[in-house]
Amino acid sequence: MDFVETRGNDKKRKIKSSFTEAILNPSASFGGLYVPSFLPMLGDDFIQKHLNSSYKELAFDILEKFELDLKKEDIASALDAYNTFDDKKNPVPIVKIKDDLFVQEQYHGPTKAFKDLALAPFGVILSQLAKDKKQKYLILTATSGDTGPAALHAFANQENIQIVCMYPKGGTSDVQRLQMSTQNAKNVKVLGIKGNFDDTQKALKSLLNSDTFNEELKKLDIKLTAANSVNFARILFQIVYHFHSYITLLKNKEIKINENIYLAVPSGNFGNILGAYYAKKMGLRVEKLLVCSNENNILTTWINTGIYDIRGKVLKLSKSPAMDILRSSNIERVIFDLFGASRTKELMQGLEDKEYFKLDKQELVLLQKYFSAIYSDDAYGLKTIKSYLENENYLMDTHTATCIKAYENLKTKPLKMLMYSTAHWSKFSPAVLNALKEDNKKYSDLEALEYINKNYSKKIPKSINDLFKKEIIHKDIINKVDIEKQILSFISQKDNL
Ligand SMILES: *Cc1c(COP(=O)(O)O)cnc(C)c1O
Repeated sequence: MDFVETRGNDKKRKIKSSFTEAILNPSASFGGLYVPSFLPMLGDDFIQKHLNSSYKELAFDILEKFELDLKKEDIASALDAYNTFDDKKNPVPIVKIKDDLFVQEQYHGPTKAFKDLALAPFGVILSQLAKDKKQKYLILTATSGDTGPAALHAFANQENIQIVCMYPKGGTSDVQRLQMSTQNAKNVKVLGIKGNFDDTQKALKSLLNSDTFNEELKKLDIKLTAANSVNFARILFQIVYHFHSYITLLKNKEIKINENIYLAVPSGNFGNILGAYYAKKMGLRVEKLLVCSNENNILTTWINTGIYDIRGKVLKLSKSPAMDILRSSNIERVIFDLFGASRTKELMQGLEDKEYFKLDKQELVLLQKYFSAIYSDDAYGLKTIKSYLENENYLMDTHTATCIKAYENLKTKPLKMLMYSTAHWSKFSPAVLNALKEDNKKYSDLEALEYINKNYSKKIPKSINDLFKKEIIHKDIINKVDIEKQILSFISQKDNL
């Protein structure tokens, strides 16, 4: 299948790219993104055919429909990455909370957050491509939380790939920091940066624009690529589990073959729900896609009014930090799909230049045909965590709790709702303990984990527990000005590929 560009073509790049071209060089003309030129249609027949398939069989068949320029063996070995999940037959189990409310747990991967679902197979694919092309790739990431650990895990020990991950010192949870700093692999470097996440991101940007840095990369014959959530390879793997959850509900006789369901997704950069949007367009029977946000509620306003306005907006630090975001990159792909390339270019450039854009009335009607949106604040989230543990014996994390607001307010028809749980509670245990004890004390992760384990009989995943006993490999906490030097010295070592 060909891939095209969301903001049209600048006559310097190719008009149509292959999948591998699109994922190796993810930046398209005029700052746009790559998208598939069409979406394969998968109707009820497809669903019925896969009633008894394993997750991998289903995923393989969906990926095949995209006619990617990948070898079948490579797709199969990418999907083998799910063997490291808690249950390799079913990486995304579903739990029934109420008669009309189900939760798909997307956190059963190696780092216990939803990012593993796409990054784990993507790591294999990228390494395979690099080996085939006899090229070496460097991945640079700046993380405030879940992406760093999942990316490090996905790329650790992958041949022909090196990864450097930077995080703001003090800007991540203890668990997230340990997941990164204990990552023991030759091709991995983790740097704590003195400053906040914004500083870290800016440092990465200036590094990418540094002439000396780019010349050194050339000399070393190393190419840069990105593993962030705008890379279409990640979106691709995020289409599969929406089909899988529908099939599971059907198999469990919770729904009938042509019944619509609601999907509620805790949203940040809009990648998870973009996969759901594509699934709906491909024929999955979704009544409405419910976009759940925290107090950084730009997406809620956009979907309710058509206005995307970040003028003078300051990011609020919430208890669901993976959703603390003002510019959600993947809305661009929805805008392209609904309104075409020239309008996308106009709107996205408006956002870049004026920090503002507005859909017209007809466009808004079309957007709302697919999406509804709502947000909740920390107080609501904490109250919800407590009441769902007490009344339903279900413990959820702070990101997941935002979906309950959608369940209570946006489910206007008597259909089943599936909500997505994007992180295990143990990744955000201090906030979860604040919820359960109705206090606002500052707990360490270890304190909170042990307290919840002991007093509420909730198991701590082994991989999280083990973190506190592991050797810290990456101890460097550096100043921004030293980043370039440190990275160059790391990538020029001969033995880490
Ligand atoms: C990344 C993440 C999200 C947001 O997902 P997007 O695809 O960026 O919308 C939500 N919750 C958790 C725990 C995450 O790690």
